[in-house]
Amino acid sequence: MENPIHYSRFSAEECWLRRQSIRDRNLSAGQAHRPKSIVRTARCLSSRSPRLLRREKRQEISEEPTLASKTEAAALAKEKLTREAPSAGTCPIKAEPSGARLRTKSSATPGKTRAKPVLPLPLVAHTQIDDFEANVSPFLACRPVGIGQRMCQSCALSFSTKDWRFNSIPAQNEFDARSKRRLSYPRARTVMATRRSFLTQVGRAGGFGATYLVMQSLGLLPVPPSEANVPRLASPAGGSRTVVILGAGIAGLVSAWELSKAGYRCVVLEARGRAGGRNWTIRHGTRVEMTDGTVQTCSFDESNYFNAGPARLPSQHRTMLGYCREFGVPLEVEVNTSRSALLQSDRLNGGRPVEQRQLVNDTRGHVAELLAKAICRDALDQELSSEDKERMLAFLRIYGDLSPDYFYKGSERAGFRLAPGAGERDGVVRNPIDMHVLLDARLWEGLLYEEQFAWQATMFQPIGGMDQIPAAFEKRVGHLIRFHCQIEQIRKTSTGVSVRYNNRKTGALETADADYCICALPFTVLKKIDADFSPEVKQIIDSVAYDAAYKIAWESPRFWEKEYSIYGGISFLDRPVNLVWYPSARLFSEKGVIIAGYNIENGSILESMDLAAKLDASRQSVEALHPGHSRDLQTPICVCWGRIPHSLGSWIHISGDSAMYPGYERIIQPDGPIFFSGDHTSHLVGWQEGAALSAHRAVSLIGQAQHTDRQARNA
Ligand SMILES: Cc1cc2nc3c(=O)[nH]c(=O)nc-3n(C[C@H](O)[C@H](O)[C@H](O)COP(=O)(O)OP(=O)(O)OC[C@H]3O[C@@H](n4cnc5c(N)ncnc54)[C@H](O)[C@@H]3O)c2cc1C
Repeated sequence: MENPIHYSRFSAEECWLRRQSIRDRNLSAGQAHRPKSIVRTARCLSSRSPRLLRREKRQEISEEPTLASKTEAAALAKEKLTREAPSAGTCPIKAEPSGARLRTKSSATPGKTRAKPVLPLPLVAHTQIDDFEANVSPFLACRPVGIGQRMCQSCALSFSTKDWRFNSIPAQNEFDARSKRRLSYPRARTVMATRRSFLTQVGRAGGFGATYLVMQSLGLLPVPPSEANVPRLASPAGGSRTVVILGAGIAGLVSAWELSKAGYRCVVLEARGRAGGRNWTIRHGTRVEMTDGTVQTCSFDESNYFNAGPARLPSQHRTMLGYCREFGVPLEVEVNTSRSALLQSDRLNGGRPVEQRQLVNDTRGHVAELLAKAICRDALDQELSSEDKERMLAFLRIYGDLSPDYFYKGSERAGFRLAPGAGERDGVVRNPIDMHVLLDARLWEGLLYEEQFAWQATMFQPIGGMDQIPAAFEKRVGHLIRFHCQIEQIRKTSTGVSVRYNNRKTGALETADADYCICALPFTVLKKIDADFSPEVKQIIDSVAYDAAYKIAWESPRFWEKEYSIYGGISFLDRPVNLVWYPSARLFSEKGVIIAGYNIENGSILESMDLAAKLDASRQSVEALHPGHSRDLQTPICVCWGRIPHSLGSWIHISGDSAMYPGYERIIQPDGPIFFSGDHTSHLVGWQEGAALSAHRAVSLIGQAQHTDRQARNA
């Protein structure tokens, strides 16, 4: 299993710096004693001679950078910054590699800093964020957290920006996960430096980038939290405690990863032969079997794929993006909206589709004109002062692209009837669509689609398919997963929990006993499993309903790019299959996978359609948007999540205006030793982020439960 801070990955020079820093820190505190675990690590990693270390460092740098790990990336970034420093002579740390002196040789004021070694700060001058983490984090705490968090959470180092002292405070309850020992740090050391002098030195050594990052770390600039939020566990956690995790979807995988890092012994039981659950990428050869007996086999080109479940990661989903960053899963932008994409309604433009840029800007122009008229007729005098009226009118002219007399007469924002060209060829702006027609077309969903919080740019997708995420987890916790093991019974016992499952590889009925259980199965499945949940919990599980989303994918030559200049984004229609989603992957390549149909099936006209009828409806929508191109669509795959075994639904159904489903407050509490997890135990239903956060919560609750048990035993 891989440790988040992999000591052996530190470069030789970093080991040496670390060792020096430990020595300085202990000497300054007048201590002969050094924390054993750190000393041992530093010694075993830095037993080579400085010359050998330098040679190794040179070799590392000359090699092709793979950036496979954070530490490697950090080492390279550090080296780059060092090389790019104004001159070797101005870099104090390069001249004095111990890294234990804050001051430059030229600007030092004797007596002030000499006896005050500053553990991480000189390194910062060389670093980028990753470098800072790789070098400093292991000293401060034995787990990586965001810089902002590190300062306050681990309490090993606090930067007071007010009086500009850097105080090293011994971390309370600091615990080394590797050695399973509590660490003791020397008590308070204080180093004085002026803000300006420090930043000046950082700037000299590392340039603007380094200064910017240091200012962020010191709280002078905001730092967007970007790391996966690490669950807080009562320390010391794990030990010999065991956890059985039900389901290897995102919630199960995150649980396994975080628990095993914290020292718990885990096993994950998974019915499928793959990890990821609803995170499912379909490629050439993938079989799609549904509970109604339908079997489809994907025959896309090898390079194409279809994310049948999750397909986009919002930029606000920091936990999922944090794991991608931590595991090195490469991401690309998922183009969720495009003004070149289309809107089609039979009530608009004779049924011919209209570009979104026209509908968006014509709607805006009409609304601006109406409001301007109302203001000019003094209809809003109650609401607006005369000064505000003037300012509002000025704003509306810009907002709606109105004429000086506040009329909307069309705008080049809405696109051109005749595109501008060379010489005399000026563009001719489109005539605006009549406001009554716009109101009648009722295309608001498509118009306002990108305004929804989670769908606002920028969104991301893993390069090569969403299943790169479970694959990255599998690399780390794959050895803990028992595939093809279908859970059949869950029982609470006097010592914890006992789970019986059918090992479908061997056909044997087997049992897994553990102190705790994280149940990350969808309730559609769980309600069919024989479990002795409390009556209240059982009733909730039995009563909830799931939505059944479907997606239909086709492989096709990229006519939408060549003929319509559409690169990603979604077109909307007023038809049974109401959207067509263009791929963001492999733009400009020959063929792409286009999603012609993604919506909730239950309760819609599609529910009663068989596979052939659905595909036909899908083709018709493509034809309505791109006449003549439905014949380009090849090798369809349709996934109806309500009929996918082990899922039996896409996400939990939340009716009407309710915030959550009935019983949610009870479900998020443990039922004895059983802790529920999955996106349905979060307020981010239908998002992997919800699944991951719910896993963090379950892990933290287990930590608390263990702590409480321990206290009860000791009492
Ligand atoms: C069509 C669709 C589109 C989506 N779009 C997005 C998106 O764009 N972005 C996003 O972030 N999220 C999206 N989601 C939501 C996302 O997929 C889920 O929130 C997330 O994957 C849920 O993870 P989970 O671990 O909670 O559950 P699951 O992934 O359902 O995991 C449950 C696991 O339990 C296993 N299991 C079931 N029964 C048994 C049994 N009896 N014994 C053993 N194991 C069993 C299953 O095989 C599965 O591996 C989408 C989902 C769907 C269906």
